[in-house]
Amino acid sequence: MKISIENLTKCFGNVKALDNVSLEIENGQLFFLLGPSGCGKTTLLRCIGGFEKQTSGRILFDGKDVSKLSPDKRESAMVFQGYALFPHMTVYQNLAFGLEMQKMPRNKIDKMVKDAMKSVQIEQLADRKPNELSGGQQQRVALARTLVVHPGCLLLDEPLANLDAKLRRDMRQEIRRLCKDNALTGIYVTHDRQEALSMADKVAVLKDGQIMQIGSPREIYCKPASCFVASFIGDTNLIPGKIKAIQTDAVIIETAAGDLLAKEAPQNAKVGDQVHLSIRPEAISLTIPAPNSLPATLKETAYLGEVSSHTATTNIGGISLDFLEMNPKFDTEGGNATLNILPEDIIVLDK
Ligand code: ATP
Repeated sequence: MKISIENLTKCFGNVKALDNVSLEIENGQLFFLLGPSGCGKTTLLRCIGGFEKQTSGRILFDGKDVSKLSPDKRESAMVFQGYALFPHMTVYQNLAFGLEMQKMPRNKIDKMVKDAMKSVQIEQLADRKPNELSGGQQQRVALARTLVVHPGCLLLDEPLANLDAKLRRDMRQEIRRLCKDNALTGIYVTHDRQEALSMADKVAVLKDGQIMQIGSPREIYCKPASCFVASFIGDTNLIPGKIKAIQTDAVIIETAAGDLLAKEAPQNAKVGDQVHLSIRPEAISLTIPAPNSLPATLKETAYLGEVSSHTATTNIGGISLDFLEMNPKFDTEGGNATLNILPEDIIVLDK
């Protein structure tokens, strides 16, 4: 199912939770809504599912306007954060309930419930009640209950929020597999950037009810469109600077630490423009020589086993930079270091 959102605005009193949002979600795509608390992602998901009515704008499923339809008429199914399972029913009964409401024949219901249980590997739990299940098992039941009705799209509101870190990681690829195996369009709300980066086909980053950027995980991480997106999607060092020269395939930026060489300037940038440079901690190397070489003094080191997280201050300009060292060897706080950065790892952003 293809989903189109056209100029969607949603106000709660004088709070504008969504501000003229437009986007397209292709058939079979796993699309993430990512952003800080209160940015409007749950409101957008609830509008798509019909649980909230937009103030203005339209929602189209495969070209058909569903803006005014109730949730049960939309061919979408929602996995809620708290799972919302019926506590007095067994797993089997929880799954069968929606189909019984549609007055389907008993043998057809039985096959559909068993198929859904099989797809998330919970056949052995059929006779248990929700309070006899672990968090991860409840999560699987909630997923199966949406899959059983064969929806055109799956709406997921922070479905892994209640699980521990290890289970969260295991379930990520399982949810992705389920969506792909069932050719489902999935819309997934999270504020967990790793969840978005590891699972999504496309990510929309929201702030204050507006879309800041839409792209693949790699595009959003490596080519963020703004300082907000750069720092929301991953740790980064943001350094103010001024464009000194623009060449065919390089740009020179004047900073307090000296001139730095980057690969690309923002579109329409010109010499003299104030910009920010985004440099990810993993882009700074102590050992690989690069055109950008900054003498620095090591201030702090946190040894984490396979990696050390360092902070150093540049000797010129006193800029504080966070960086990572894999397989760490370096731990002399107060010692000298040379920080090397490749031009392609310096992202120049409009101020
Ligand atoms: P979180 O990650 O914390 O769940 P979110 O990005 O999903 O946040 P929303 O729940 O969509 O954000 O809320 C967006 C804005 O709309 C917030 O300012 C919120 O306070 C407001 N809001 C949401 N629901 C209501 C409501 N029923 N009544 C009044 N204001 C609301």
